Amino acid sequence: MKAFEAVRHYFDTAANYLDLHDDIRGLLLTPKREVQVQIPAKLDDGRIVSFLGYRVQHNNSRGPMKGGLRFHPAVDLDDVRSLATLMTWKTAVVDIPYGGAKGGVAIDPRAHSRTEIESVTRSFIDQIHDVVGPVTDIPAPDMGTGAEEMAWIRNQWEKYHGFNPACITGKPVEHYGAVGREEATGRGVGILIVKMLGRLGRKANETRVAIQGFGNVGIHAAKYLHEADFKVVAVSNVGGGFYNADGLNIPEMLTYNFENGNTIEGYEKATKITNAELLELDVELLVPAAIGGVITKENAPRVTASLIVEAANGPVDPGADEILEKNGAIVLPDILANAGGVTVSYFEWVQNLQHYSWGLNRVRQELEQVLARAFEEVWQASREYEVPLRTAAYILAIKRVKRATELAGFS
Ligand code: GLU
Repeated sequence: MKAFEAVRHYFDTAANYLDLHDDIRGLLLTPKREVQVQIPAKLDDGRIVSFLGYRVQHNNSRGPMKGGLRFHPAVDLDDVRSLATLMTWKTAVVDIPYGGAKGGVAIDPRAHSRTEIESVTRSFIDQIHDVVGPVTDIPAPDMGTGAEEMAWIRNQWEKYHGFNPACITGKPVEHYGAVGREEATGRGVGILIVKMLGRLGRKANETRVAIQGFGNVGIHAAKYLHEADFKVVAVSNVGGGFYNADGLNIPEMLTYNFENGNTIEGYEKATKITNAELLELDVELLVPAAIGGVITKENAPRVTASLIVEAANGPVDPGADEILEKNGAIVLPDILANAGGVTVSYFEWVQNLQHYSWGLNRVRQELEQVLARAFEEVWQASREYEVPLRTAAYILAIKRVKRATELAGFS
């Protein structure tokens, strides 16, 4: 199933509980604006190539549009459109005053030098600078981008519009970035897992965890869960996974990753497994924290974890979701599970607008408050409507976006 079709399916499932009229469904699903641009770039060897770049602005009824920029070879319009839509529901679930957007470039960052990536990034901003900005649409990091790209983007955007660090979030701390932004998505995943376990009356030290993805999200989730006494038995990156039934030495793996240029490849103190095997391990908690569409109706029957927490965007497709539910698994959906990132992006934006910076404790405390409230609201909605957490989260989000749209009027 294509990515946008999957998001539409989840939206429709929730909209049915709200008796949403077809006209409103159409209005809430259709992006406000979709931009596709050609990005010409000169490679280090002198060749001229061009990449395709996208920015989809889905909805702004609750505030400026917000969402990351992804650099990945699989990026296309359908993918970005689905991710932009998810951002609208995500910001609404955690109730921060934003709409949703997403962008990306179809490029494999690992196949290019940093000079080439910088040139592509700047050239992309040359094409889209007039449709993004601090009060319209605020980009941020996503898969394949990080603080350095955000610094280039700010610098390039400011060449056209003047000083305004609030034009982008996820910046380096030295460039008006928020302390705690980098860890925020993974930390948020950890915070929400602890809340969920509390509600289910389960114990951390009796919960074995497998995490797919050891990038920014997976790393911070692993660290948080390890420190909270969970037994992290498997982690992986694109090259495959590492497993130890007694629990991995996460601090050692973090150091290994850091010392080896952000990869765990070559780590020898655990059993090598494939990414497909990781998803089917005998664990209580599975955290897909890499790409979308990894749990499908083909492998879902073999997933034994009873808790699945979507740290990535769209890792469980609708066919799989149905099977997992029938098997009694609980899925904490992406639009809540990974919302810690955009929440701290919001804190960064607020600090930039006020020319004031918060300390790490304040960022962490306020993150915890936002996520705890959102989790409780989703949990209660799930009880009230007698639906899984995903449908409950969509119900909450759709209600909020619909209400804001109606209050603004239609003419
Ligand atoms: N890319 C992240 C996400 O999917 C963060 C977006 C942001 O900080 O605006 O939620």
